[in-house]
Amino acid sequence: MSFFDDVKKFGRNLTDKGKDIVEITKLNSQINSEKENIKELYRKIGEQVYEDYKNSGESTYGELCGQIAEIEAKIKELSDKVLELKNASKCPSCGTEVNKQNAFCPKCGTKIAQE
Ligand SMILES: [Zn+2]
Repeated sequence: MSFFDDVKKFGRNLTDKGKDIVEITKLNSQINSEKENIKELYRKIGEQVYEDYKNSGESTYGELCGQIAEIEAKIKELSDKVLELKNASKCPSCGTEVNKQNAFCPKCGTKIAQE
């Protein structure tokens, strides 16, 4: 084999390596995208389990569901503080944020309790 054949072969190997790298990057990106799909399904399973727990009051994952319930209570508490600072409340009927100066919900017309 001549020197020039070696050079050509070397060059082709480099090109193949380049293609491999592109292909590997593409495949890894597909793998990551599929992993994201799994995560999304995990999230949906979790939501469904928690929904069942709220409806039935029991679950194999009761302890974890209880933690979510605690966090939800904390979020409610924090949200109430925000509403208080904004001098607003939530419409008891549709949940729209209503300024306390309003006597009625601007969205659904429900009377807002005045304090
Ligand atoms: Zn309303």
